[in-house]
Amino acid sequence: MVASRSARERKASVEAGPLATARIDVDADQQFVYKVACTQCRNTASGGTRPRAWSTYRPGDDNGYMAAMDRWTFHLVEKHPEAEAPCLAYLEAARQRLHERRTRQ
Ligand SMILES: [Zn+2]
Repeated sequence: MVASRSARERKASVEAGPLATARIDVDADQQFVYKVACTQCRNTASGGTRPRAWSTYRPGDDNGYMAAMDRWTFHLVEKHPEAEAPCLAYLEAARQRLHERRTRQ
């Protein structure tokens, strides 16, 4: 459990790219909780209009990973269009998933 969690955490960090900090917590139900935060937006938070760092927090195993990474990918595209990260390769897939989630609700 612990080994697989840190392996997932490393994978998330790599995929999210240099601007992100990726963390995985385990909640009371022993479920993974993925947290991806933006280092850039945290650094400018005190002088900016945002009171807190940008971050996304999603429970679940592969679902949580995917949902957190999708949100992070959209954040990158929106706020840091010049940034590079491996997860940007999945932007089209992320948009597709977002579309599917919206049409299902
Ligand atoms: Zn940011």
